[in-house]
Amino acid sequence: MIDLLVAGEVMTAVRCDGPLRLGGSATVSVVGAEAGVAIGAARLGHSTALGGRVGADESGALVRRTLAAEQVALDAVVTDPEATTGLVLFERRTPDLTRVEYHRRGSAGSRWGPADLAPALALRPRAVHLSGVTAALSESCRAACAELARRARLLGAVVSFDLNHRPALWPGDVAGPELAALAGLADVVIGSPEEFDLIGAADPAGLLAGVPGEVVVKNGAHGATSHDADGTRHQPALRVRAVDPVGAGDAFCAGWLSALLDGADRTERLRRAVTVGAFAVTARGDWEGLPRRDELSLLGLPDGAVVR
Ligand code: ATP
Repeated sequence: MIDLLVAGEVMTAVRCDGPLRLGGSATVSVVGAEAGVAIGAARLGHSTALGGRVGADESGALVRRTLAAEQVALDAVVTDPEATTGLVLFERRTPDLTRVEYHRRGSAGSRWGPADLAPALALRPRAVHLSGVTAALSESCRAACAELARRARLLGAVVSFDLNHRPALWPGDVAGPELAALAGLADVVIGSPEEFDLIGAADPAGLLAGVPGEVVVKNGAHGATSHDADGTRHQPALRVRAVDPVGAGDAFCAGWLSALLDGADRTERLRRAVTVGAFAVTARGDWEGLPRRDELSLLGLPDGAVVR
């Protein structure tokens, strides 16, 4: 049995110092919403596995190596010999503007499907986390998400679903009904106010009439709000110097799931979620700045503090 299974596509990220067409230097790492959640949970000490597909290529090897170094188990990652690992190019166009180009159509990650679920379910995860990014990739990915959610719940796992709408992957009118269907299979649904609107739940608490027992609205620097049968609870964001907002939502999910796996109550789940979310915005990169468990209290220290 493991604590958490996170399923989704992890890609190679190439970050160029200037405009891509001029060449020059770049740094290489891995990205993907689900990678951020998995790494975040693993850093907090939970036994965590990734589910999905990578290509039989050097990018796939980088994904495997990076996640293994972060203690994320790869038993449920299938190697696809017929497709390449997805690629994302970031170019710093101006100091404050980054342009992103995705090369993920037909990628190994987008070919993940229901036939790949056996090794994931064999891990007997206590919790399963899915996101709307995976659902956007292909029909087979959508089917795998739905099947995994159903089967994991039957095995007693808590299923969380981050709506994570990516307009570049699918427009709102297509995504809305699909995301709503997946949200209806999850115990916990997490999203932004706009994403709840998109699935026809402008009042997120309305989802509690279906399967979800808790609905969590993340709202950037305004913090987050949870709705369940006991009512509504709000947690303000921590005040930090934000340098890169990307990845905050995934970090938030990692913190929330970590507290859930610890058996913490709703207040502590929200507190840990906003804490890990705040860590993400203080560092460049999607997951690099995520805290270890013994670092969770660092953001409470006064500005300029030196920890010896
Ligand atoms: P992304 O898609 O970029 O990962 P998101 O839109 O899914 O982000 P946000 O609502 O931006 O998610 O952020 C998630 C949580 O992270 C917030 O609820 C908040 O607790 C924390 N957070 C985000 N931005 C800040 C900030 N500027 N300062 C402090 N905490 C923040």
